[in-house]
Amino acid sequence: MYRVLLKRYLPADIARLFKWTELRINKLIYSGNTFLCPYCSQTYRLFKSGGITNQLIEKMDIIGAGIRQNMVCPGCGSTDRDRLLYAYFDHEFKFLRPKKLLHIAPEPCLNSYFKNIVSISYVFGAKFHEGLYYPKELEIINLEHLQYADNTFDWVVCNHVLEHVEDEFQSLAEILRVLTPGGKAVLQVPWSPKLEITFEDPTYVTESDRLKHYGQDDHLRLFGKDYPGRIAKAGFKVSIIKPSDLPLIADNKVNLSINPRELIFVGEKQTS
Ligand SMILES: [Zn+2]
Repeated sequence: MYRVLLKRYLPADIARLFKWTELRINKLIYSGNTFLCPYCSQTYRLFKSGGITNQLIEKMDIIGAGIRQNMVCPGCGSTDRDRLLYAYFDHEFKFLRPKKLLHIAPEPCLNSYFKNIVSISYVFGAKFHEGLYYPKELEIINLEHLQYADNTFDWVVCNHVLEHVEDEFQSLAEILRVLTPGGKAVLQVPWSPKLEITFEDPTYVTESDRLKHYGQDDHLRLFGKDYPGRIAKAGFKVSIIKPSDLPLIADNKVNLSINPRELIFVGEKQTS
């Protein structure tokens, strides 16, 4: 989710100044040669640990959740998940150059990365929440009812969002609708390799229920091994990419400190 939005208690400019200062100091403290962050193009002796854990996350071995060592870049805040997507786009954009890309609930590092691709028409948006700070260029969107015409984007990036929406299949249908034929959507979610069928129960409406059953108090389901089948059911052609399939990771020349178990789920809008 767009972490800038969380700065609800400080004026945005002051919060940004604090963060900028902290990251500059971190760049010096953590300087070294163990890991590379491709977003801030700097090497570090270590990344910061991050994430949260609880009984359910541990028990269900949820991928994309839990405490991770060397997870957060101290210089720009990129996470292991963000760096994995960098390796994916670095490779994939050589074959399908982005023309118009929709980024849902944009992560700051990916947001800057896409903004710096000169050829791209880049649209990014998030759901409106009262009291949060929204940068001027951020469009207010509802994933279940996108305001864009059919066949608008050749890429959609939806990273750890589908576990938060009320209607997963309506959201997937909207992503499919706004994609051009042949266009691709990156559809990352946290998921459990120990769960055969995605678990959701609409009677779990309290934060404590959701924390207990899904592992996080604002999640509305826990995805299982059937997740790729659910994307296919929504009408996409599904590809599953392993980190070791990506040259930037497979070459082993640099260490991005990603989770080797994290898969990339890609849905393609078929041409006929
Ligand atoms: Zn960085």
